[in-house]
Amino acid sequence: MKSLSRSLSNGHYAKHNSALGPTLATLLLFSAPQHAAAEWLGDTRPMMGTEVSVYLWSEDPAAGQLALEDVFAEAVRIDHLMSTYRDDSAISKINRLAAESAVATGDELLQLIQRSLDISVLTKGAFDITYDSIGQHYDFRAGQRPDEKTVQSELKNIDYRNVQLDQLAGSVRFLKVGTRINLGGIAKGYVVERGVEILRRHGVQHGIVTAGGDSRLLGDRRGRPWMVGVRDPRNDSQVAVTLPLQDEAISTSGDYERFFDEDGIRYHHIIQPSTGEPASGVRSATVIGPDAVMTDALSTSVFVMGVDRGLRLISTLPDYESVVIDANGQVYFSDGLQQPTNGSPDRGEENSPMSLKDDGFSL
Ligand code: ADP
Ligand code: MG
Repeated sequence: MKSLSRSLSNGHYAKHNSALGPTLATLLLFSAPQHAAAEWLGDTRPMMGTEVSVYLWSEDPAAGQLALEDVFAEAVRIDHLMSTYRDDSAISKINRLAAESAVATGDELLQLIQRSLDISVLTKGAFDITYDSIGQHYDFRAGQRPDEKTVQSELKNIDYRNVQLDQLAGSVRFLKVGTRINLGGIAKGYVVERGVEILRRHGVQHGIVTAGGDSRLLGDRRGRPWMVGVRDPRNDSQVAVTLPLQDEAISTSGDYERFFDEDGIRYHHIIQPSTGEPASGVRSATVIGPDAVMTDALSTSVFVMGVDRGLRLISTLPDYESVVIDANGQVYFSDGLQQPTNGSPDRGEENSPMSLKDDGFSL
């Protein structure tokens, strides 16, 4: 029996407000501050090829602003360490040199690579940071993808077992020339986990840190849960499922984040390591649980594994739950999620506990 039981509201009732800013600004109007100076603070900034948002309740707005700036500074620091778009990042250096000799990584990167490799074992290779030997040949903005020959030759370079860590020496080595790693499936979860840690250290008790499809909720919304919507993968102004959550992480991986369509086929950014092609069968995979590093990596994994294997994996992890939307738009829930008892996805209006427009946000 799972300790976790969450209720859902399901449906197309709630037109969501994709920008967190106005949503929480509206929230401010409904929250009666205990002290005149206390308020919700927030900001959204472009970062890591996506947007990072920080919102928090602060009894002292000047102190709250400092906390917020600290979180953004941390996101910048992590991006500098882990971005494959920067030639001077530690990851780029590893990708250039680690096939020739061991490269010192520093403890932080070493531990995150270790966690990535552990999740590869857990997911039987569905999550694999060496996907990048093929991933590097995509340019979604330009609509470019690798040709069949490139896919076949680079596919041989996808295997997390070729990434060897030396915990004592603090270094990484690739066992095969052509290996590349990319932490894009886990780094944003790490950013939001670290961000919430920083908020906590500043004494913040209610807040959200979001990076792209990954969010970590700190506390509740001052007496009520945060309402987090999972967007309809084919209509960004609609919400498919709403989850009331507090003190948890939630990550969504979708085929609508970075993609282009060509001849009726959607080419997107989540690669099936066994074929080297974008994973098919799922439009979005959402994972909820206590740790954003895990929810981030697991949402990518469940997306790759598909509905059956993905939900079976989640059922073995007592603290984690999942919502998967397949290629037909059908919504599936893991066992620990309490499904709505009345109403279909198309008739959700009456199930709505409150209007998302005023109270939540969606991924
Ligand atoms: P988002 O970037 O939308 O938050 P996800 O958490 O779903 O997305 O992660 C997708 C990213 O993960 C891709 O952009 C890529 O960097 C990386 N990735 C793609 N396929 C895999 C895979 N099979 N294993 C690990 N990481 C992957
Ligand atoms: Mg992910």
